[in-house]
Amino acid sequence: MSASSTSYLAFVPQHAPTTHSVLAMIDRGDGPEAETLVSFSDAPSATMLAAALNGFLLHQVTAERRLEAVLDGAPDPVRKAVSALLPVLATATADDPAALRVARQLPTVGDDGFLLFPTTNCPGRCEVCGTCRDDCVGCSECADGGCEVCLPVTLTPRTAAVLGHALAILADEAYDYIYRTGMCRDGTPGPLGAVVPCVADQDEWFLRRYARAFDDLSSDLQIGRFPTPTCTAEEIALDLAIQDAERLYDDEDELVADLETELPASRSDYNWDTLQDVLFQDKDYEGLLSYRIPLERDEAERWFEEFGNVPPRDRHRGFRR
Ligand SMILES: [Zn+2]
Ligand SMILES: [Zn+2]
Ligand SMILES: [Zn+2]
Repeated sequence: MSASSTSYLAFVPQHAPTTHSVLAMIDRGDGPEAETLVSFSDAPSATMLAAALNGFLLHQVTAERRLEAVLDGAPDPVRKAVSALLPVLATATADDPAALRVARQLPTVGDDGFLLFPTTNCPGRCEVCGTCRDDCVGCSECADGGCEVCLPVTLTPRTAAVLGHALAILADEAYDYIYRTGMCRDGTPGPLGAVVPCVADQDEWFLRRYARAFDDLSSDLQIGRFPTPTCTAEEIALDLAIQDAERLYDDEDELVADLETELPASRSDYNWDTLQDVLFQDKDYEGLLSYRIPLERDEAERWFEEFGNVPPRDRHRGFRR
């Protein structure tokens, strides 16, 4: 981090008898300090705004929607301060992934994990279809697919839960292959095909980072953001996970019912093809999924080169296993 840059670490509410503020925890290069961003006369607004701003820092799918909800009807100075801040947050977090550590670790109130994903995009009083509400029930415009606002949701809570499960079992299979544990005791790649053939011969350092790619994508889901590949290894991991999630959904009724418990249903649940379309920048990696000739060391190493156009991972995040 350069001396002149300001990192926003997190936002927290501060409740006093008559004022309720949102404090920004910032780092200008001399360690963290707190700075008052805005003040409200009521407590819930400050709490909700802090949570929404943390969501914005973390690129949560519903962050903007939650920001709009709390800013709707907020005093002018609050709206001005927040709209001046958002562009700064958007660029700041792009090149300083370490800054997100604090926000990631904050305990959340209310919805967390998969519940951070929406079940509908219907805003409740849609500008396009007018009175549309309750997930477009009875709306003729939406029945014809005519509304650009009330589109199907890409990643719903239930879809996220099944995809998260797929990522977890694939990560474990990849780690099992490295350590010759579990299903891979005999040293052969496991039944799920977590380790694709062309890199099965790579060394432990390669394979541990490859296994971590599944965990990294899973950590995106845990904080309510799209799993966003930052390198080729993660693209391959995500593609395999979407395929495996579809398999789980088709074959493992009991497991899926278990994962669905306590998560709301959506008419957009389990659109696996949409995930394949939306979550990838391109499909250049696809040939590698079935490529059987072992890659050279240098070629394989390129799987971890960061794309540069999406925020990279925190270098100090460590390994789960
Ligand atoms: Zn609608
Ligand atoms: Zn509608
Ligand atoms: Zn609409």
